[in-house]
Amino acid sequence: MNDRPRAAGAAEVAASVVRPEVHALSAYVVAKAEGLVKLDAMENPYGVPPDVAARLAQALSNVAINRYPDGAAVATKAALARALGVGAADGVLLGNGSDELIQIIASTLARPGAVMLAPEPTFVMYRFSALNAGMRFVAVSLRPDFSLDLSAMLDAIERERPALVFLSYPNNPTGNLFAVEDIEAVIRATPGLVVVDEAYNAFADASFLPRIAEFPNLLVMRTLSKIGMAGIRLGYAVAAPAWIGEFNKLRPPYNVSGLTQAAVVALLSDTAWIGVQAQAICDERNRLETQLPLLPGVSVYPTRANFVVARFANANGVFEGLKVRRILVKNLDAWHPLLKGCLRITVGTPDENDRLLSALNELTLPT
Ligand SMILES: *Cc1c(COP(=O)(O)O)cnc(C)c1O
Repeated sequence: MNDRPRAAGAAEVAASVVRPEVHALSAYVVAKAEGLVKLDAMENPYGVPPDVAARLAQALSNVAINRYPDGAAVATKAALARALGVGAADGVLLGNGSDELIQIIASTLARPGAVMLAPEPTFVMYRFSALNAGMRFVAVSLRPDFSLDLSAMLDAIERERPALVFLSYPNNPTGNLFAVEDIEAVIRATPGLVVVDEAYNAFADASFLPRIAEFPNLLVMRTLSKIGMAGIRLGYAVAAPAWIGEFNKLRPPYNVSGLTQAAVVALLSDTAWIGVQAQAICDERNRLETQLPLLPGVSVYPTRANFVVARFANANGVFEGLKVRRILVKNLDAWHPLLKGCLRITVGTPDENDRLLSALNELTLPT
């Protein structure tokens, strides 16, 4: 079967038809984490409590997997509204993770020449979605303390007239909340849609969700990923129904699987466990924020997320040394000039954080 003559190999054919900007990319690499203490991806370190797991198993066993799921996801949206305080008059869009929502929003607004604008460093999926949708991406650097450079943002908005602005609130990978007045000014100045991405809302105690009705061009996005349910892939966006109606036209009709929908209803039928875990994570975050700067040559940035950004005198050495000690964090050193020397450490269980701190004790250098 292998003697069929071939004019060209698959790589050549692909290279002749794949979009050049895609061909030039390297695929997003998810770090291997087998057997490591995993503090690199902002996951919740706690599993689902046994009673909730039992309810989940029961719900999943009842799913009619021979049928397509409910494309409108009515029960799922009701569960979200009940559990997470989504307003009754607001429109809600569900996605296979917020990654898919970002993609749908970008594709919908990608008129020829349209601009997506975001501060940087920020969540890399924004830039990636601009490329995917064919939007021009414009980045405005944060200030060295990771706050928004408001005048640079307003200048860029005036110059570029963006169709879409992304603000991660708190910001990934820096962990801080931007000033409320700065965000308000960006929303007022932007001719297009401003997405406030609240992936870390559970740890932040700050939100623009109650302000949807106040701004006709505001969308707030959240996800279940950072509150213990990254595996089921569910993100949701809240905005005026006029926006949601447009996005629904490009949403694949069955983008949220029947298993995910049933899981959401079961997992959110009682939300006490989510609050308990989020509080434990905030307590441990505060402990890391206090303990890390006591190490020689280490400083930490203020954080309102489930991770801490710390600057080290020898970040690359510390990163490798942690790996040798079976602890995986995220090395931000080469990401952006403002992040030189920085590692991003997801808050783990008390035991995992103890292991991290004792490893860092061995690895940090007296200055
Ligand atoms: C983790 C994260 C998300 C979540 O993406 P999902 O696809 O829902 O897992 C979205 N936005 C930001 C800024 C994040 O850090």
